Amino acid sequence: MQDQLKQFALTLGASEVGFCKLTPSPLPQFPYAISIAVKLSDAVLSTIDNAPSFIYFQHYRTANTLLDQIAFRLTQKIEEYGFSALPVAASQSLGKENPYRGVIPHKTAAVLSGLGFVGKSGLFLSSKYGSKVRLATVLTDMPLQSELPVIENGCGECTLCKNACPAGAIFGEKPTIDGERNFDPEKCSRYMKEHFQDIGRGSVCGVCIKVCPKNKLQ
Ligand code: SF4
Ligand code: SF4
Repeated sequence: MQDQLKQFALTLGASEVGFCKLTPSPLPQFPYAISIAVKLSDAVLSTIDNAPSFIYFQHYRTANTLLDQIAFRLTQKIEEYGFSALPVAASQSLGKENPYRGVIPHKTAAVLSGLGFVGKSGLFLSSKYGSKVRLATVLTDMPLQSELPVIENGCGECTLCKNACPAGAIFGEKPTIDGERNFDPEKCSRYMKEHFQDIGRGSVCGVCIKVCPKNKLQ
Protein backbone atom coordinates (compact mmCIF):
# COMPACT_ATOMS: atom_id res chain seq x y z
CA MET A 1 0.00 0.00 0.00
CA GLN A 2 2.92 2.36 0.75
CA ASP A 3 4.24 1.92 -2.78
CA GLN A 4 0.76 2.47 -4.21
CA LEU A 5 0.50 5.74 -2.27
CA LYS A 6 3.87 6.84 -3.61
CA GLN A 7 2.98 6.06 -7.22
CA PHE A 8 -0.38 7.78 -6.77
CA ALA A 9 1.27 10.96 -5.45
CA LEU A 10 3.87 10.95 -8.26
CA THR A 11 1.09 10.55 -10.83
CA LEU A 12 -0.70 13.55 -9.31
CA GLY A 13 2.37 15.73 -9.80
CA ALA A 14 4.62 15.20 -6.76
CA SER A 15 8.34 15.42 -7.56
CA GLU A 16 9.37 13.41 -4.50
CA VAL A 17 7.54 11.39 -1.84
CA GLY A 18 8.95 10.12 1.45
CA PHE A 19 7.67 8.24 4.50
CA CYS A 20 8.62 8.32 8.18
CA LYS A 21 7.66 7.58 11.73
CA LEU A 22 7.44 10.71 13.90
CA THR A 23 9.00 10.38 17.34
CA PRO A 24 7.23 12.11 18.89
CA SER A 25 4.31 13.08 16.69
CA PRO A 26 2.63 16.46 17.34
CA LEU A 27 -0.66 14.52 17.19
CA PRO A 28 -0.14 11.17 18.95
CA GLN A 29 -3.05 9.58 17.10
CA PHE A 30 -1.04 10.04 13.89
CA PRO A 31 2.45 8.60 14.44
CA TYR A 32 3.41 8.41 10.74
CA ALA A 33 3.91 11.01 8.04
CA ILE A 34 4.10 11.26 4.27
CA SER A 35 6.28 14.09 2.97
CA ILE A 36 5.43 15.46 -0.47
CA ALA A 37 7.75 17.75 -2.45
CA VAL A 38 6.96 19.68 -5.62
CA LYS A 39 9.86 21.18 -7.55
CA LEU A 40 9.65 24.84 -8.54
CA SER A 41 10.45 26.02 -12.07
CA ASP A 42 14.07 27.07 -12.75
CA ALA A 43 12.86 29.69 -15.21
CA VAL A 44 10.54 31.20 -12.61
CA LEU A 45 13.25 31.25 -9.95
CA SER A 46 15.52 33.03 -12.41
CA THR A 47 13.11 36.01 -12.28
CA ILE A 48 14.12 36.65 -8.64
CA ASP A 49 17.03 39.03 -8.39
CA ASN A 50 17.47 40.91 -5.12
CA ALA A 51 13.75 41.15 -4.62
CA PRO A 52 10.65 39.02 -5.16
CA SER A 53 8.85 38.89 -8.51
CA PHE A 54 5.17 38.65 -9.37
CA ILE A 55 5.96 35.60 -11.50
CA TYR A 56 7.52 33.85 -8.50
CA PHE A 57 4.61 34.75 -6.24
CA GLN A 58 2.07 33.31 -8.67
CA HIS A 59 4.17 30.17 -9.12
CA TYR A 60 4.55 29.77 -5.34
CA ARG A 61 0.79 29.90 -4.89
CA THR A 62 0.22 27.41 -7.71
CA ALA A 63 2.77 25.01 -6.18
CA ASN A 64 0.96 25.30 -2.84
CA THR A 65 -2.37 24.52 -4.49
CA LEU A 66 -0.92 21.45 -6.24
CA LEU A 67 0.60 20.23 -2.95
CA ASP A 68 -2.67 20.73 -1.09
CA GLN A 69 -4.54 18.75 -3.74
CA ILE A 70 -2.02 15.89 -3.61
CA ALA A 71 -2.24 15.82 0.21
CA PHE A 72 -6.03 15.83 0.01
CA ARG A 73 -6.12 12.96 -2.50
CA LEU A 74 -3.64 10.93 -0.44
CA THR A 75 -5.86 11.44 2.60
CA GLN A 76 -8.84 10.10 0.68
CA LYS A 77 -6.78 7.11 -0.48
CA ILE A 78 -5.59 6.31 3.05
CA GLU A 79 -9.19 6.45 4.31
CA GLU A 80 -10.18 4.03 1.52
CA TYR A 81 -7.49 1.69 2.93
CA GLY A 82 -9.26 1.85 6.32
CA PHE A 83 -6.91 4.24 8.14
CA SER A 84 -7.17 7.88 9.24
CA ALA A 85 -5.17 10.75 7.82
CA LEU A 86 -4.84 14.50 8.26
CA PRO A 87 -3.49 16.66 5.43
CA VAL A 88 -1.25 19.56 6.49
CA ALA A 89 -1.53 22.37 3.95
CA ALA A 90 1.61 23.64 2.19
CA SER A 91 1.23 27.05 3.78
CA GLN A 92 -0.55 26.28 7.02
CA SER A 93 -0.91 28.75 9.87
CA LEU A 94 -2.49 28.03 13.24
CA GLY A 95 -3.91 31.55 13.49
CA LYS A 96 -2.89 34.64 15.45
CA GLU A 97 -1.41 32.67 18.33
CA ASN A 98 0.99 30.85 16.04
CA PRO A 99 1.03 32.57 12.64
CA TYR A 100 4.20 31.00 11.23
CA ARG A 101 3.68 27.34 12.12
CA GLY A 102 1.35 24.57 11.04
CA VAL A 103 0.55 21.35 12.89
CA ILE A 104 4.06 20.13 12.05
CA PRO A 105 6.97 21.80 10.21
CA HIS A 106 6.95 20.19 6.74
CA LYS A 107 10.75 20.17 6.77
CA THR A 108 10.80 17.94 9.86
CA ALA A 109 8.78 15.25 8.07
CA ALA A 110 10.89 15.70 4.92
CA VAL A 111 14.17 15.30 6.86
CA LEU A 112 12.93 12.25 8.78
CA SER A 113 11.87 10.76 5.43
CA GLY A 114 15.45 11.11 4.18
CA LEU A 115 14.56 13.49 1.34
CA GLY A 116 17.17 16.09 2.34
CA PHE A 117 18.26 18.33 5.23
CA VAL A 118 17.50 21.77 6.69
CA GLY A 119 20.02 24.43 5.63
CA LYS A 120 21.26 27.46 7.55
CA SER A 121 18.58 29.43 5.71
CA GLY A 122 15.99 27.42 7.59
CA LEU A 123 14.88 26.12 4.19
CA PHE A 124 14.59 22.43 3.45
CA LEU A 125 17.25 21.36 0.92
CA SER A 126 16.19 18.35 -1.12
CA SER A 127 19.01 16.00 -2.16
CA LYS A 128 17.74 16.17 -5.72
CA TYR A 129 16.60 19.76 -6.10
CA GLY A 130 18.11 21.82 -3.28
CA SER A 131 15.78 24.50 -1.95
CA LYS A 132 13.82 24.70 -5.20
CA VAL A 133 10.93 22.77 -3.66
CA ARG A 134 7.72 23.41 -1.76
CA LEU A 135 6.43 20.84 0.73
CA ALA A 136 3.24 19.44 2.22
CA THR A 137 2.66 16.64 4.72
CA VAL A 138 0.02 14.02 5.46
CA LEU A 139 -0.16 12.68 9.03
CA THR A 140 -1.64 9.22 9.43
CA ASP A 141 -2.11 6.15 11.61
CA MET A 142 -1.33 3.91 8.62
CA PRO A 143 1.99 2.20 9.46
CA LEU A 144 4.71 3.49 7.12
CA GLN A 145 8.40 2.76 6.83
CA SER A 146 11.21 5.18 5.97
CA GLU A 147 12.82 4.20 2.70
CA LEU A 148 15.88 6.46 3.00
CA PRO A 149 18.33 7.22 5.83
CA VAL A 150 18.27 10.63 7.49
CA ILE A 151 20.88 12.89 5.86
CA GLU A 152 23.48 14.82 7.85
CA ASN A 153 23.58 18.56 7.29
CA GLY A 154 25.64 19.68 4.30
CA CYS A 155 25.94 23.50 4.45
CA GLY A 156 29.51 23.35 5.71
CA GLU A 157 31.08 26.84 5.99
CA CYS A 158 28.73 28.45 3.44
CA THR A 159 26.96 31.65 4.57
CA LEU A 160 25.62 32.89 1.22
CA CYS A 161 21.98 32.97 2.32
CA LYS A 162 22.82 34.81 5.54
CA ASN A 163 24.78 37.41 3.57
CA ALA A 164 22.07 37.81 0.91
CA CYS A 165 18.98 38.02 3.13
CA PRO A 166 17.72 41.62 2.90
CA ALA A 167 15.93 41.29 6.24
CA GLY A 168 18.82 39.94 8.31
CA ALA A 169 16.49 37.09 9.20
CA ILE A 170 19.04 34.27 8.73
CA PHE A 171 21.39 33.75 11.66
CA GLY A 172 23.95 31.44 9.97
CA GLU A 173 23.80 29.02 12.90
CA LYS A 174 24.18 25.26 12.68
CA PRO A 175 20.85 24.07 11.27
CA THR A 176 18.26 22.23 13.34
CA ILE A 177 15.72 19.73 12.03
CA ASP A 178 12.84 22.23 12.18
CA GLY A 179 14.87 25.33 11.28
CA GLU A 180 13.64 26.93 14.51
CA ARG A 181 16.95 28.40 15.63
CA ASN A 182 18.26 29.18 12.13
CA PHE A 183 15.88 31.80 11.02
CA ASP A 184 13.48 34.48 12.31
CA PRO A 185 10.18 34.14 10.37
CA GLU A 186 8.78 37.31 11.91
CA LYS A 187 11.72 39.40 10.69
CA CYS A 188 11.41 37.89 7.22
CA SER A 189 7.67 38.56 7.06
CA ARG A 190 7.98 42.10 8.49
CA TYR A 191 10.61 43.05 5.91
CA MET A 192 8.46 41.75 3.08
CA LYS A 193 5.37 43.58 4.31
CA GLU A 194 7.30 46.86 4.68
CA HIS A 195 9.09 46.75 1.32
CA PHE A 196 7.07 44.62 -1.11
CA GLN A 197 3.46 44.90 0.02
CA ASP A 198 2.39 45.02 -3.65
CA ILE A 199 3.94 41.62 -4.42
CA GLY A 200 2.28 38.68 -2.74
CA ARG A 201 0.88 40.85 0.04
CA GLY A 202 4.33 40.86 1.56
CA SER A 203 4.52 37.11 2.07
CA VAL A 204 7.15 35.84 -0.38
CA CYS A 205 10.72 36.79 -1.30
CA GLY A 206 12.79 33.87 -2.57
CA VAL A 207 16.26 35.45 -2.40
CA CYS A 208 17.54 32.74 -0.04
CA ILE A 209 16.35 30.10 -2.55
CA LYS A 210 17.99 31.90 -5.44
CA VAL A 211 21.47 32.18 -3.90
CA CYS A 212 21.80 28.66 -2.47
CA PRO A 213 24.57 26.65 -4.22
CA LYS A 214 22.75 23.41 -3.36
CA ASN A 215 20.25 24.25 -6.09
CA LYS A 216 21.14 22.17 -9.08
CA LEU A 217 20.53 23.52 -12.54
CA GLN A 218 18.17 21.36 -14.60
S1 SF4 B 1 12.60 34.94 2.10
FE1 SF4 B 1 13.90 36.77 1.78
S2 SF4 B 1 13.67 38.00 3.64
FE2 SF4 B 1 12.95 35.93 4.11
S3 SF4 B 1 14.73 34.82 4.91
FE3 SF4 B 1 14.71 34.41 2.71
S4 SF4 B 1 16.02 36.01 1.85
FE4 SF4 B 1 15.48 36.65 3.92
S1 SF4 C 1 23.10 29.22 0.91
FE1 SF4 C 1 24.75 27.99 1.85
S2 SF4 C 1 24.39 28.14 4.07
FE2 SF4 C 1 22.52 28.82 3.06
S3 SF4 C 1 21.26 26.98 2.98
FE3 SF4 C 1 22.37 27.09 1.03
S4 SF4 C 1 24.23 25.85 1.37
FE4 SF4 C 1 23.34 26.28 3.39
